[in-house]
Amino acid sequence: MESSRVTRRSFLGASGAVLAASALPRGAFSPLQPGAEADCIAISSANGIGAVATARAAVMERKLRPVSAAVLGVAEVEADPNDTSVGYGGLPNEDGIVQLDAACMDGPRHNAGAVASLEGYMHPAQVAERVMDRTDHVLLVGPGAKRFAHEQGFREENLLTEASHKAWREWQATRKEDDRLWPLNGADPDAPWTLGETRPWGTIHCSVLAPNGDLGCCTTTSGLAWKIPGRVGDSPLIGCGLYCDNGVGSAGATGRGEAAILTGGSWLVVERMRAGDDPVEACLHALRRVAEQTLRASSWQPALWAKDKPAFGLTFYAVRKDGLYGSATMVGRRGSGKFAVANARGARLEESAILYELPA
Ligand code: ASP
Repeated sequence: MESSRVTRRSFLGASGAVLAASALPRGAFSPLQPGAEADCIAISSANGIGAVATARAAVMERKLRPVSAAVLGVAEVEADPNDTSVGYGGLPNEDGIVQLDAACMDGPRHNAGAVASLEGYMHPAQVAERVMDRTDHVLLVGPGAKRFAHEQGFREENLLTEASHKAWREWQATRKEDDRLWPLNGADPDAPWTLGETRPWGTIHCSVLAPNGDLGCCTTTSGLAWKIPGRVGDSPLIGCGLYCDNGVGSAGATGRGEAAILTGGSWLVVERMRAGDDPVEACLHALRRVAEQTLRASSWQPALWAKDKPAFGLTFYAVRKDGLYGSATMVGRRGSGKFAVANARGARLEESAILYELPA
């Protein structure tokens, strides 16, 4: 089997990560343990420390459903011009146009909405929520998504900030003739890459567990910087950049979207939790699957695999229905990978487990 080519050494990081993961703090609320204090838990990528606080408050104080709380939480990141990976100020595509992807998923009704390659609207997650609530469809793309956003009363605006435009012009000036096969993102500073360039990535995923055990989630992004116009990442694809099942848990991904798509990553994380994994184990399991499949893919795209591991970043986030939560990232130095969490103890960053831990 191809997967046996993943060397033993390459997976030593995995066992280390499991050990590190067991030391992670766990959520306090468990519907399975009578008497445990009901709590709302919101988790997100590290850029969402404000988002998780907002999402939790929306559930606890405004009684919003978890999916709407997640959409509300990420709105402040979508509107932040300094986060160049999401919404307003997001880095544009090859043509200098900002195209946004987003999706949300509602556990209790098992429904989802998504938009992809949406231009001119700052809050694609809110448009995705309307797709979920006001249509029988799941995903609208490009001009159709834009028309729908307009019909729904969202305000069209210019999303390209001066800073993002400047970054795009600099990229244009140094652009290689044919760079479409090498979208590496610099996960491992020691990797001996000689091909391609580094491209910024970023996204926010947010999963919310309400005190009654209901779940919801949302992922929103401007996607890979300088992408081919029309390129859709994992973020708006149900099962890839996010997934939730109200009987099990909720999960999402940030990082190389193509890898999360090719593995069905977020769906896999939820299914592993269904099978009994805790959230960190489930995230690590999905990362191992990505690694095995990436090794296979590297037979034609060698730059995807360097120094016995995938040469890109990918992080999963998960919360289980019983209140356990966690995250794991593909590669990094101890302490470098973080995720945001808010519960009764406040909003803070915690450490993601690492599949391939780099020496300090
Ligand atoms: N996953 C996103 C995408 O592929 C980007 C990211 O999370 O950095 O579009």
